[in-house]
Amino acid sequence: MKLSENAVKVLEKRYLEKDENGNLLEDCEGMFRRVAKAIASADAAYTDEKGLAVIEHEFYNMMANLEFLPNSPTLMNAGRPLGQLSACFVLPVEDTMEGIFESIKNAALIHKSGGGTGFSFSRLRAKGSAVNSTGGVASGPVSFMKVFNAATEAVKQGGTRRGANMGILRIDHPDIMEFISCKSDNSEITNFNLSVGITEDFMRAVEHNLEYELLDPRTKKPVAKLNAREVFDIIVEMAWENGEPGIIFLDRLNRDNVTPKLGEIESTNPCGEQPLLPYEACNLGSINLYNMMDDAHKGLDFEKLEYTVRKAVRFLDNVIEVNKYPLPEIDRMTRGTRKIGLGVMGWADTLCALGVAYNSQAAIDLADKVMSFINDTAQKASQNLAELKGVFPFYEDSIYAQKGIKMRNATTTTIAPTGTLSLIAGVSSGIEPIFAISYIRNVMDNSELVEVNPVFKEAALSGNFYSDELMKKIARVGTVKNMNEVPTNVQEIFVTAHDVLPEWHVKMQAAFQRHTDNAVSKTVNLSHDATTDDVREVFTLAYKTQCKGVTIYRDGSRDLQVLNIGKVK
Ligand code: UDP
Repeated sequence: MKLSENAVKVLEKRYLEKDENGNLLEDCEGMFRRVAKAIASADAAYTDEKGLAVIEHEFYNMMANLEFLPNSPTLMNAGRPLGQLSACFVLPVEDTMEGIFESIKNAALIHKSGGGTGFSFSRLRAKGSAVNSTGGVASGPVSFMKVFNAATEAVKQGGTRRGANMGILRIDHPDIMEFISCKSDNSEITNFNLSVGITEDFMRAVEHNLEYELLDPRTKKPVAKLNAREVFDIIVEMAWENGEPGIIFLDRLNRDNVTPKLGEIESTNPCGEQPLLPYEACNLGSINLYNMMDDAHKGLDFEKLEYTVRKAVRFLDNVIEVNKYPLPEIDRMTRGTRKIGLGVMGWADTLCALGVAYNSQAAIDLADKVMSFINDTAQKASQNLAELKGVFPFYEDSIYAQKGIKMRNATTTTIAPTGTLSLIAGVSSGIEPIFAISYIRNVMDNSELVEVNPVFKEAALSGNFYSDELMKKIARVGTVKNMNEVPTNVQEIFVTAHDVLPEWHVKMQAAFQRHTDNAVSKTVNLSHDATTDDVREVFTLAYKTQCKGVTIYRDGSRDLQVLNIGKVK
């Protein structure tokens, strides 16, 4: 297996099975075998022993060859007693004390198993409204979010990963102004990503500089009015200041809700890529596009890609079957819609290897081509599975029943951030541009290690311009743009997240969104000296190009940044 040293380190620390003294009970290969066996076992009812062994072998190969990886909880927990395999959950928050604390308890159970939770706080009554049972006044969504946050802080996810949450409030909630600025102090609500739930009506009001109404969440009656453009500007200002809140377009999530009869989509998972109904969970998986190229690295091998998508859909559908859900309600909903989220990673590395600049129309065209192929293939695979194993149980309540298309899964595609998966596979994450061509990692003993993007290293070696000195210089400067030692054609292709203008970030997100059932995880990176106008333009472009939401980050705007490029002496 071709795992990097870093990948092995991460796997050993958090993914491999250990005994109570912390001794490893398996190696990386053993982990993939354990996962392949557990996930293939869902096929036992459909094939004989020989057939099952073939499926298990195919699953193992896909993972061991780093062609496809399921989300982290599947790698960690499949074939082990906990058995919780999903990364994404959405829980409802009811406007009662029982409901709120029930939700906190459920979130804790999910975090313990390595899953992330999203909540809409829009149903909670506004700060200062009456509480009938006590005659007192309500403290409002933001104060309860702090309780959720504290609970998350206390549950360290069984030592695997820190709990992650998404908190959403509708733009027409009376407490929206408090919500928008509640993270202006970076030390508050640290375990949440925040997004304002924006409606198309609101965006029209922004466009025409009109007022819009705030509604009492219980009576839906107007209680106040705000100027839409002023509110939008404050969201922009806050996002400029430290990257939060993001925005999500609620009406678009619901336009693409394939089971509207089952309820409304109010929230996504923590990183925004997976809109779900209350109590729904979803398991994700990502295809490593870098390993889908033909041998000569001239283009993508679409035959291999088709094969991998088909196997990956079967794999993810099986995950639903063997998954152990933390709550009966989640079990019912998740098995009912059978949503899966197949996406990609290593996109930027693939573009570089193919000699296509991320910030070019050619890259957008290729994104359209690749993702529409994946989406179509995934849908066909789900239809084939429906013939073999039956449609998802809530099918009759879905738009597919109206269209007469039999599907095994209510959704098939999602673009995840692949934070850890991309590290395991050793490629650029999700559909993000390369973050740094080379960077200096401070290791424990205060020494420095220069890490170089492997695709760039290859290009530099074959172009005869590789030197350790140059790699250090690139790490210092943070880009190869205008660097004489690097040939101009290489400069143009190896662009980093900061070389790419914000509009290209959004265009790329929009291209993948066009062919993705669920949503796309993407951060639009802005330079430190970007203005609030730049942020507003990004938000507006994301709206106009049919993105489902957008998150920005202005370099250096949060105090704590894990990787600092161009800043290391
Ligand atoms: N997630 C989480 N905690 C984490 C990282 C991720 O709960 O520390 C969840 C969250 O719902 C996120 C999803 O996993 O949106 C997918 O994240 P990513 O693709 O980065 O996970 P990976 O499978 O690479 O670990």
